[in-house]
Amino acid sequence: MKIQTVGIVGAGQMGRGIAQVCAASGLSVLLNDIGETAMRSGINGISSALDRLASKGKISESDATAIGARITGSVTLQDLATCDLVIEAATEDLRVKQDILARLDSIVRQDTIVATNTSSVSVTKLGAALANPERFTGLHFFNPVPVMELVEVIRGIQTSDETFDTVIAFAKRIGKSPIDVKNSPGFVVNRILVPMINEAIFALHERLAGAEEIDAGMKLGAGHPMGPLALADLIGLDTLLAIMDVLCRDFNDPKYRPAPLLRELVDAGHLGRKSGRGFYAY
Ligand code: NAD
Repeated sequence: MKIQTVGIVGAGQMGRGIAQVCAASGLSVLLNDIGETAMRSGINGISSALDRLASKGKISESDATAIGARITGSVTLQDLATCDLVIEAATEDLRVKQDILARLDSIVRQDTIVATNTSSVSVTKLGAALANPERFTGLHFFNPVPVMELVEVIRGIQTSDETFDTVIAFAKRIGKSPIDVKNSPGFVVNRILVPMINEAIFALHERLAGAEEIDAGMKLGAGHPMGPLALADLIGLDTLLAIMDVLCRDFNDPKYRPAPLLRELVDAGHLGRKSGRGFYAY
């Protein structure tokens, strides 16, 4: 199937990035969120990002206008009825995702491909919310979406080869480099990356060094482009905690225990860049 119209559920930092990249590849995009404020914040965030690209000369003013014009905001899932592909990019919460997928099931066409951008939740479990889960797959982008080249394409046990192949072709068409990943908690990259960030939070909590020293250590000593605590703030501490909780529960292994300081910061509403405060202030 040739994908022309993409629906995205969730206009947060990931949903808006996915929308921008799809529109920049010439696709029509419907960007959905639960309310007018969240949806508008997504659309405005994309406009600012496009303006920044144009002012740096990376795209022309007319391209920025054309890309923005291909994205339409939506606050009702029913608007996604005509989409060829719907990507769920809402909050990392099993119930929220299952509810969205079950509702989408009765809205979209039978041949519409449905994908999730989940960072950790089982693609097989989420697919079970659909009547025909063979058309469901994981399509995991990385943050910031316009910059990061990778997508993990994750097969659930029910995902058909046709769905998988269509999504791989879609990922390449929007300029990404897909890797073929089996369904497992955290998939590949977050299975490795998120426990490393969690360990950095333990190191901070145990006062082995300050946040800036820990970040400098991993940048200068391990060649990482960004320190783990700055990266935690970029990802969102609520999302990181949700991923560690899934790893810990689904592997049933205490080695994935979330750092208590991570939970404490989330409880305080310090979610990183998106709330203005995390390990650093913004
Ligand atoms: P975010 O908190 O920035 O945005 C989530 C958005 O989902 C919010 O705008 C919220 O209003 C919306 N939402 C919640 N319930 C909804 C519903 N029922 N219908 C429509 N919209 C709804 O989170 P994010 O960082 O964009 O993460 C979104 C997803 O992408 C999560 O599954 C996350 O694990 C995954 N992800 C995040 C990152 C990252 O670095 N942050 C990277 C890859 C994947």
